[in-house]
Amino acid sequence: MLRLYNTLTQTIEPFEPIQKQQVSMYVCGPTVYGDIHLGNARPVIFFDVLRRYFEHLGYQVLHVSNITDVDDKIIEKAKATNRSELELADTYTKAFIEATHLLGSHLPTDMPKATAYVEAMIDYIAALIKKGYAYETASGVYFRVGKIKTYGTLSGQNLDALNEGVRINLDEDKEDPKDFSVWKKTTDGLHYDSPWGKGRPGWHTECAVMNRSIFKTMIDIHGGGTDLKFPHHENEMAQCLACDDHTLAKVWMHVGRLDIDQVKMSKSLGNIIYVKDLLEKVDPLAFRLLMITHHYRQPIHYHNELMVQFIKEYDKIKRAIQKAMLAIEMAGVSDDGVDQKRMHQFEKHMNDDINTPNVMTLVQELVKALNKAEDARQSAGLVNTITRILDILGLMPDIHVTADVIKRMRDWEQARTNKDYDAADRLRQHLISEGWL
Ligand SMILES: [Zn+2]
Repeated sequence: MLRLYNTLTQTIEPFEPIQKQQVSMYVCGPTVYGDIHLGNARPVIFFDVLRRYFEHLGYQVLHVSNITDVDDKIIEKAKATNRSELELADTYTKAFIEATHLLGSHLPTDMPKATAYVEAMIDYIAALIKKGYAYETASGVYFRVGKIKTYGTLSGQNLDALNEGVRINLDEDKEDPKDFSVWKKTTDGLHYDSPWGKGRPGWHTECAVMNRSIFKTMIDIHGGGTDLKFPHHENEMAQCLACDDHTLAKVWMHVGRLDIDQVKMSKSLGNIIYVKDLLEKVDPLAFRLLMITHHYRQPIHYHNELMVQFIKEYDKIKRAIQKAMLAIEMAGVSDDGVDQKRMHQFEKHMNDDINTPNVMTLVQELVKALNKAEDARQSAGLVNTITRILDILGLMPDIHVTADVIKRMRDWEQARTNKDYDAADRLRQHLISEGWL
């Protein structure tokens, strides 16, 4: 049985879907004001692997990931670059979709845009005010955090420490410094009419409302990067408890951070690596392999040598499969059987809170066995097993044994039979350079 770590309970729990054979999963998506960096790529890869594994287990997955297309950062950048907010958001939404494809991930089944749900957000805020969970001030509408007795549970925050820690900023009209904005009164940049004057919704409210509008009820999994635990997810959960009197999700999953050379990526340090820049130079699946070989809850300390190591590692896997596929084709073996024992081991590791590091050890064993296979029939069973596993991880290389390759193999054999060693050597070198031998 699949077991997953739940941030909310801080334990690994058996996964029991709310609806039989269905999984509802909401993963916080990007604020589209720039390209995504390597850290942002982690959830895009991990939740895709999780979804594929659920599908492998026979679940139907509704995987929703939002696009935050109205936000202060978008407005600032639009002004600085002399573009409209929507144009800017559209550019980077497209860039995000492109990066998702590049990373070898499927697009979520639904990608709602915040701007399409503003009306629902206004209704939601009005309901929060009516229930006494939110109040209007001169600068906006705020959520009354003190009314949620369990506030802080998800992120493990101590409320007293929070009281001291929250900086008192410009919102001096808040009842409590912990209260967060659900509506910001402003006419600067993209704004909407509301019962509280012109303005725009707060980010935490955007996700809570898109989630509610799409799923209508509690969902199975809410996910994102670990930095979203607080305040974003805590605040989403608080609003859901206030509005609907139930928790937003059964299981909360958070993906560890990625730093560069042990330092957090940041604009001020100038150490940000963008996905599109790295993947221009590196096989995207080698990067995906690097990510997947680390357990999703552990931090990744990215550095160039590590990437180089995984480029070699992925090449090794790819070449073993490629050579075996050609040998199988040449021998005319057709066998679609898989190694059941190893598939069972694979599922055992995945069921253990998606233990992909152990899965990759298993893949390495399979590659070793493939390189030592005694005949094409044995190779076929191993190739089928590796293919099945790599497909679920989104790591399967694109290999096609074409008629041209087979012809060149036959020509090489013929040249050897004819003792035409020059031609044989030329053909052999060519086949080696393409990874077939
Ligand atoms: Zn969110």
